[in-house]
Amino acid sequence: MESISVFDMLKIGVGPSSSHTLGPWRAAGRWIDHCKRHGYFDDITEISVDLYGSLSLTGRGHATDVAVQLGLCGFDPVTFPIENIETEIESIKNNHILKLNSELDIPFVAKENITFNRKFLEFHPNGITFRCLLKNGTKRHMTYYSIGGGFVVQKERKRAKKKLKNFGNFPYQTETGIDVIKYCNEEGFPISEMVLQNELSLRTETEINEGLKAIWDVMLDSMYVGCHTVGTLPGGLNVRRRAYATHKTLMPDESKYNNATEWVEAIRNTEVKFRQILKWVSCFALAVNEVNASLGRVVTAPTNGSAGVIPAVLMYYMVIENHDANFEDVRRFLLVSSEIGSLFKKGATISAAMGGCQAEIGVSSAMAAGALTELMGGSPEQCLIAAEIAMEHHLGLTCDPIGGLVQIPCIERNAMGALKAINACELALDADPSQTKVPIDKVIATMWQTAKDMANKYKETSEGGLAVQVNMSDC
Ligand code: SF4
Repeated sequence: MESISVFDMLKIGVGPSSSHTLGPWRAAGRWIDHCKRHGYFDDITEISVDLYGSLSLTGRGHATDVAVQLGLCGFDPVTFPIENIETEIESIKNNHILKLNSELDIPFVAKENITFNRKFLEFHPNGITFRCLLKNGTKRHMTYYSIGGGFVVQKERKRAKKKLKNFGNFPYQTETGIDVIKYCNEEGFPISEMVLQNELSLRTETEINEGLKAIWDVMLDSMYVGCHTVGTLPGGLNVRRRAYATHKTLMPDESKYNNATEWVEAIRNTEVKFRQILKWVSCFALAVNEVNASLGRVVTAPTNGSAGVIPAVLMYYMVIENHDANFEDVRRFLLVSSEIGSLFKKGATISAAMGGCQAEIGVSSAMAAGALTELMGGSPEQCLIAAEIAMEHHLGLTCDPIGGLVQIPCIERNAMGALKAINACELALDADPSQTKVPIDKVIATMWQTAKDMANKYKETSEGGLAVQVNMSDC
């Protein structure tokens, strides 16, 4: 049984895509570790990278080539200053040298040394192979797969097995919604407490709190930055940032706050009716995904393309529903959302290259809906009902980003996913669990079957849907 930590489901990273940016970045780092472990890192004289399938088809729009170069340089996607990305890439481009792991000077020209192959590898649509030539003329290569949400595996899944072993002592191992409800009922736990007990088998409570606080800080910061940044997003679609303008209508007087924490208080003091609530939630979601689209720092939740849903719904709770909400509420929300995301990862997929947008926005909406329901006083059964409702109304949603950029329809789709999550929560709070017709495990199975039936052109290839109906030149 696969045991997934909250820090696997929610990761601090760099936009615009968890599978096409964060995953390849991490894969490069993992390959360097491999070369070092096997003792040939210092003998490397040449390197090249092959991107396959979806990584190739939408890789340019998702900055996969940039991410691979930064990973090869040995930079950490969590801590690397995003404002330095352009300088580093320009330096490689101008000098034709890449400093492998910031140690070895290797001749490198991205256009020649990174190959975009349309071919799909068998194991997963997002394949990436690193090749190198050693001083003695020997060639080595290693293939990785970016399976969604920043997760990276090798075909033989040796590391996955190791992880399984490490996490084998989770006290509450869950694979299905039935497992979650069984443990919660047996122990009298809300879902968040069950997940916390699992996390405590891996790290101390202080470490958990610090990690979750860091995640919330990045979420809040991405909303704050997005709401206060004007301009056009990069990539050539000429998409204007919209969170700024909407925020201006909701909060015309910016003198009331000086930082993100004061901003939260200032929002709490505004008067909100239904329209303003819709606009605030949309604004939070748009803000995060505009930051994501401009290669900014966001939390992968469960992917980058869907990074805005969970912060927007959590912020809704903090500024609209409960003005006394504090870190304990944030912690519970993140713990529950990660458990729901992990059910989808185990039973279906969180990769758009495998399942279309239902696997990204659909899953993030389900995660947020379930988590909000716990904070609103719902039972564990009602949390899963909310998650089920949110996914049920995203089933079949395709992935068709125009120009391969995580902008249209992605940014708006986060606003819609967040609002559906809030509505799903309200429906679930009024629901009688004994009358449930569609349990969450059935919707997960349905989503997986739908993913398998979905044509490849709707799976992060930009070969169908809006991506072919709307031309870049029209934008
Ligand atoms: S359409 Fe959905 S799944 Fe595809 S890149 Fe955009 S947000 Fe991600």
